[in-house]
Amino acid sequence: MAKVDLHTHSRCSDGTSAPADVVHRAKAAGLTLLFLTDHDTVAGFPEALAAGKAEGVDVRCGIEINSIEGSAHILGYGIRWRDPSLAARLAEFRERRVKRMHMIVDKINKLGVALAFEEVTALTGQTLGRPHVADALRRKGVVKTRQEAFDRFLASGKPAFVDSMGPSPEEAIALIRDAGGFCSVAHPDTVVDKGRMDEWAKLGLEGIEAYYSTHSPSDILRYTTIAERLNLIPTGGTDFHGPGSGREKALGVELPDEAFGRFMERLARCG
Ligand code: AMP
Ligand code: ZN
Ligand code: FE
Ligand code: FE
Repeated sequence: MAKVDLHTHSRCSDGTSAPADVVHRAKAAGLTLLFLTDHDTVAGFPEALAAGKAEGVDVRCGIEINSIEGSAHILGYGIRWRDPSLAARLAEFRERRVKRMHMIVDKINKLGVALAFEEVTALTGQTLGRPHVADALRRKGVVKTRQEAFDRFLASGKPAFVDSMGPSPEEAIALIRDAGGFCSVAHPDTVVDKGRMDEWAKLGLEGIEAYYSTHSPSDILRYTTIAERLNLIPTGGTDFHGPGSGREKALGVELPDEAFGRFMERLARCG
């Protein structure tokens, strides 16, 4: 078994920890490998890399790109993180998130809850997301936790929900491959139409996050079975979002040697 974390967030997107703090926690958890996979940005990577050098943790740059709610969140590994066309597309996705955020704030206001756009963006890094609305509502005392904000306002079907304006899974896969990387589908349990995995595998999806922090042994079996059928690499991560996020369990999952070996072999062919 290899203790690794291939899925983590910092405050450059919707995590609450600085990139260096994520690395520090990875060191404390005894990880051999850490990927920072912020949503739509690689801005946290230089700081994480420097911290990894200082602390002796192998830190690599990843990305998570969300398509519409209930569809795939695509994790990218082995990307050329300075690639200008990747940077341009990510900037475009972040711009669309700003537009969406105005719509969410509008809906919150129409529900009789006073909230200014600037209150949401006050403490954000590069990428805006619903967790920042949750945090702003928490600061105002409207909710106690991010989870409560999602349950009352922000989740799909709730009154302030606005769907993601991210790219389709197909576009996200193509973008990551064009930047020299490979893709895994994050927390596959949240993919409503799991039948589309076959189609995505044909389009270049190469992994599935079978070893996700909340997965039971039967979930792991379900997704490693799909991985075998579609010849996908089973990947693993916690989706750490930092203290106070509700997604803050200790970093690291145990990835079986075979899966880890396949992942590292694929990573070595990137660039
Ligand atoms: P967004 O990128 O704006 O669509 O927000 C999605 C992000 O919100 C996810 O990456 C999680 O970090 C967070 N999230 C989604 N659902 C929940 C939930 N029920 N409770 C807390 N955080 C959530
Ligand atoms: Zn997130
Ligand atoms: Fe996700
Ligand atoms: Fe995530």
